[in-house]
Amino acid sequence: MTTSNLPVRNTRIIADVKCYYCGHVGGQMISRRNQPLKATDFVPRPGYKGELPRPGSRLRCERCSGPVFLEDAGSAIVPTAAVDKALARRLAARKKAA
Ligand SMILES: [Zn+2]
Repeated sequence: MTTSNLPVRNTRIIADVKCYYCGHVGGQMISRRNQPLKATDFVPRPGYKGELPRPGSRLRCERCSGPVFLEDAGSAIVPTAAVDKALARRLAARKKAA
């Protein structure tokens, strides 16, 4: 076993793509940490009905065509116990807020 072709799953960024106007989350951006986010990194939610972004084009809200922003952008998903704990905490906080 060599270290040269290990998966680089510890350098992923996952961010919700959320609408400024209506708060609708159309999907996620999933990207490598060391690369700038591109429209083509967009992963639509199940049942997404909007237009898929093309390279160089800006992503819009599928519901109201409003501008979108990335929530939690910059948080790297690292498969460690510490991150699992942080994610569990975040999920618990979200449940409380709902
Ligand atoms: Zn919207």
